[in-house]
Amino acid sequence: MQTQQVKHLVWFRNDLRVNDNAVLANAAKNTESLLAIYCLDPRHFETDKFGFKKTEKFRAKFLLETLENLQENLKMHGISLLVIQGKPENIIPEICNTYGVETVFFQKEWTQEERNVETQLSKNLNASTKLQSVFDQFLYHPHDIGLTFKEIPQVFTVFRKHVEKQSQVRRTVEIPIFSKENLVNDNRAIPTLRDLGFEEFETHPNSAFPFKGGETEALNRLNNYFFETKKLGVYKKTRNGLIGTDYSSKFSAWLANGSISARTIYWAIKTFEKEQFKNDSTYWLIFELIWRDYFKYVSLKHGDDIFKIDGILNTDYDWYHHEKDINKWINGTTAEPFVNANMLELKHTGFMSNRGRQNVASYFAKTLKLDWRIGAAYFESLLLDYDVHSNYGNWMYVAGVGNDPRDRVFNIQLQASNYDPNGKYQRLWLQNTLF
Ligand code: FAD
Repeated sequence: MQTQQVKHLVWFRNDLRVNDNAVLANAAKNTESLLAIYCLDPRHFETDKFGFKKTEKFRAKFLLETLENLQENLKMHGISLLVIQGKPENIIPEICNTYGVETVFFQKEWTQEERNVETQLSKNLNASTKLQSVFDQFLYHPHDIGLTFKEIPQVFTVFRKHVEKQSQVRRTVEIPIFSKENLVNDNRAIPTLRDLGFEEFETHPNSAFPFKGGETEALNRLNNYFFETKKLGVYKKTRNGLIGTDYSSKFSAWLANGSISARTIYWAIKTFEKEQFKNDSTYWLIFELIWRDYFKYVSLKHGDDIFKIDGILNTDYDWYHHEKDINKWINGTTAEPFVNANMLELKHTGFMSNRGRQNVASYFAKTLKLDWRIGAAYFESLLLDYDVHSNYGNWMYVAGVGNDPRDRVFNIQLQASNYDPNGKYQRLWLQNTLF
């Protein structure tokens, strides 16, 4: 039987959604059928130079759930998603040859490892196959902000005020439904957690993030946090919380792999403000989404400097590499119970609150003066919501080599007494017998 021919291929990366996906929307133009692919890149599961697995079991499971959901949602739009273990630069040319693909559409990335993959891919493709990529991970699109990357301000507030005044958030885009006859005949199953080298596991009962991966779950969460419970309306008061699902939006993990777009969240906030009420909390969630954008622009401006020990400031601190201290931090056995509770939460759930992250990072980089890149690499491994720009941007910031030139050190005990005055959070993780 002759293999079906498909003109356009969508290569999914960190944009794992059907709604408001500019890559999909571009690919859906001028074609009768679409094919999609996601490559589970073995490099993402290798051990890094500090000895951590680049992706630990939490994010691996979340990713597989996301892909299952994406496959279902795409199928309903008449689009097949192939999920294949292998390097994109090797797999995609094969798929292009098999299906006679003319153009490969994908989300543009700019950090070193992602760029290397794109370069290698373009070398391996037939000269006749075109690559077409767009930025689609922002709230404020790079073409709309009226600044070149070089002109991105060093201070967040200057950036925020500029984009709020000069730029508009784009409307969301949708795709048509293709004929189901165009679904391709490919019976490959989505790889399992075991295929990626992990054991199956249950979510910890105390997890603040008991949610599953996938666009459907992300949209359900949005609906629940905004419209069903109206928790959005108290976000600014609760956002420094430590326990449970509702002190903050918990959008980060879905945003990080692109299961939901920042624009979708923005426009849902606008709907909420119109239908319900508008207050400083409804605005504050947008404010935080602008932080997310900001770290993306910082990394666009400074390139690979965000991975260097002196960061983007070239500040020369003494950094240490004491193995014992690093292990105590990881295992939650330092001299600071508040740090320990947070590190145990991370170890057992893959999640930690923003308040917790700031404290444990400050303790690591400023109190213990340990090479902040090791802390960042550990976060990269464990976090469900790891996002290269937010992670390295925040770590640089806390370590004093990023967008906060002040050499600040958190007073951990004061932080614990302010944010966990009765010690409830610390007890939850330090006295837990379930692990
Ligand atoms: P909410 O408080 O509900 O905020 C809504 C959204 O705004 C978040 O989902 C996130 O997309 C964005 N946001 C909020 N705070 C920040 C911030 N400080 N920087 C950038 N975006 C922000 N966030 C990640 O998504 N991935 C990371 O790898 C990551 N690493 C971090 C490392 C350190 C050392 C620190 C201090 C912070 C890090 N953050 C990271 C930012 C922040 O802690 C998380 O985004 C937030 O805790 C996620 O929970 P939420 O979705 O409930 O946040």
